[in-house]
Amino acid sequence: MKVLMALILAHITLISCNAQTTNSKVKKTTMSEAKKPGEPKTGNPVYSKTDSSKVTMSEEEWKKILPSDVYYIARQKGTERPWTSKFEKFDEAGTYYCAACGNGLFKSDTKFDSGCGWPSFYEPISKGSIIYTPDNSHGMTRTEVQCGRCKAHLGHVFEDGPPPTGLRYCINGVILDFEKAKETEKKYTGKKS
Ligand SMILES: [Zn+2]
Repeated sequence: MKVLMALILAHITLISCNAQTTNSKVKKTTMSEAKKPGEPKTGNPVYSKTDSSKVTMSEEEWKKILPSDVYYIARQKGTERPWTSKFEKFDEAGTYYCAACGNGLFKSDTKFDSGCGWPSFYEPISKGSIIYTPDNSHGMTRTEVQCGRCKAHLGHVFEDGPPPTGLRYCINGVILDFEKAKETEKKYTGKKS
């Protein structure tokens, strides 16, 4: 009888231990998923660093899902004040994504210090990552650059950049999401194990 009781007790202890382990595992998974780069942003169903399909949405829908500063730049073709972006003087290795939809835009090794007050790059990550549109507003002839996936306004491109392209992509920092190169490597290692 004593043995039976001991067995039952041991069993109960095991069950409660298991339950605790499961609970803490669930909590941990949720935490890391929330921080995982490339995952959809809370409240933004179109944000993805892996889905390259084009995004078409009404301005009203964009207004609902984007933070107001991002909406102002992306959808209303606004311009942030110069020297205000944290990416203006920033030289960490990694990738810059569209803050509205997660589309890959620029690599840090094409970023340069132009001194113009906005983050500047000499080449986009790929040909299709950006759309070019003539912009004749404010009495100037410029070329506007938009996100190739969601058509968010990014900034302008000028022909006074450094080699090898001679181009200067002058981009609003508000519309950029940065992901460190190291974190990307960690993500891949994590997937394998
Ligand atoms: Zn985009």
